[in-house]
Amino acid sequence: MAKIAVLYDAGQAVLSTFDPDEVLQRILGIARDYFHLQNVAILLLDKEAQQLCVRSQIGWDQGQDQIRLGLGQGLTGAAAVKKQPVYAPDVTKDSRYICTAQSTCSELAIPLMVRDEVVGVLDCQSDQLDPFDKDTIELLTLFSTQASMALQNARLYTLERQRARQLEAINAIAQQSTAVLDLEELLSRVCCLIQQAFQVSHVSLFLRDEGELVLRAHHGTLTPRAAPENMRFPAGQEPWSSILATSGTFIEKDLGGTPEHLKFFVESASRLSIPLVSFGQTLGVLTLDSSTPNAFRESELSSLESVADICATSIQNANYVERMKQLAYLDGLTGIFNRRFFELRIMEEIERARRYGMGMAVIMADIDTFKPLNDEFGHLLGDEVLRQVSSLFHQQLRKIDVVCRYGGEEFAILLSQTSAQHAVAVAEKLRKIVETWQFPGVPRRVTISAGIAAFPDHGTTRDELVRAADTGLYAAKQSGRNRVCSSHLARAASAGN
Ligand code: GH3
Ligand code: MG
Ligand code: MG
Repeated sequence: MAKIAVLYDAGQAVLSTFDPDEVLQRILGIARDYFHLQNVAILLLDKEAQQLCVRSQIGWDQGQDQIRLGLGQGLTGAAAVKKQPVYAPDVTKDSRYICTAQSTCSELAIPLMVRDEVVGVLDCQSDQLDPFDKDTIELLTLFSTQASMALQNARLYTLERQRARQLEAINAIAQQSTAVLDLEELLSRVCCLIQQAFQVSHVSLFLRDEGELVLRAHHGTLTPRAAPENMRFPAGQEPWSSILATSGTFIEKDLGGTPEHLKFFVESASRLSIPLVSFGQTLGVLTLDSSTPNAFRESELSSLESVADICATSIQNANYVERMKQLAYLDGLTGIFNRRFFELRIMEEIERARRYGMGMAVIMADIDTFKPLNDEFGHLLGDEVLRQVSSLFHQQLRKIDVVCRYGGEEFAILLSQTSAQHAVAVAEKLRKIVETWQFPGVPRRVTISAGIAAFPDHGTTRDELVRAADTGLYAAKQSGRNRVCSSHLARAASAGN
């Protein structure tokens, strides 16, 4: 009867909580106190590795709790294979014994079973020789069945809670991402939400950009292998070619042997990649990196794929808004920026020049005698000349320079980090290319005049700089056209005639 009472008490104790760590502690506590054991441990089975890993222990010698045992190794491994308790009344006489505590004289390993499957082993060690009689072994075996159930319940409960948290996260991501129309903000917010909900080391979003995949946002604890702005990789090369080829979820279980350049983060040991697909178009890839190998479970995939779908749709929406915004700043005839954009950007450029002391410059350029050209060859051809001049400017300048149609046949160009002298040289290059360009259908030379102004030499405010560049342009026209003037004292910097 006393034994039944022990079993009843023990069962109650381990089955009354769903917290896995608490379940483990209670199992160990009961084994130690009710059965007078010194060293007790629970080893759980890592199915993939087919190894028993110590999950929780009392009384083992320091450093021993990191050991992993193959199935069949030690008494615990033998119990897992046999699916039966294995008892060594005197460990010195049992060749299977592996020492984890110096004080141990005997060891009893009992498999933890859920239905027919071994999930782990309860390992009981005593400093007495042959302390377990048949009844005690039987009682401990019955107790281990309750312990297995408690562990299984705790595991299911944890999984359910995790699933509920993920569902909440999907909901939050859906709500928040559809509300954010700014792409940068959307991407970084989504990374944070996913990282928190799925408790993974690092989350990154790579988006396609002209044949490359570019890191646009990331969040987590790992160390990027390069500065984030340099994390751009050709889409046709690994790792992307494999990831994109599947057009489905791609898991890399162990990045251990992967060349460094194919990793995004230094500590990355496994990776999950999900292409972001919207209306059949792959916009990019959502990647989750973990610092432990084999970190991704099949059970999480569908939730993550839903998240990726939401991301793709939100990115598409944000792209659309971005395009609409851009359209508001583009000139309909030439496709370059309009004056509204110039006004916006010149303020930013001046602010940047002021803050970093790097200088900036403005070029005002105007097509010479355009009215007669229009009159002579027609307005449509005039339009074509405007388009071609815009295109020439665009081709000749750096990506960071801003070419705008200021009005009619006048252009305003912003050159960041540029001195007055350099701005004159750039304007001169533009003047020369237009002068020598053969405009189809225009049997005469087309030329431009330009004025330049630089920060801080010619002014430090928008009005001062624009006025100064205009003064230069006026001077260029006055002194015969097809030339570049800097505004200072309306000095002619060069003349093409
Ligand atoms: P200048 O060398 O002094 O600049 O002489 P200009 O003839 O270029 O200057 P003016 O200001 O007299 O004429 C500008 C002309 O540009 C008048 C206008 O018909 C033409 N223009 C302005 N916008 C457009 C446009 O969108 N398309 C076409 N085809 N012509 C335009
Ligand atoms: Mg003109
Ligand atoms: Mg004009």
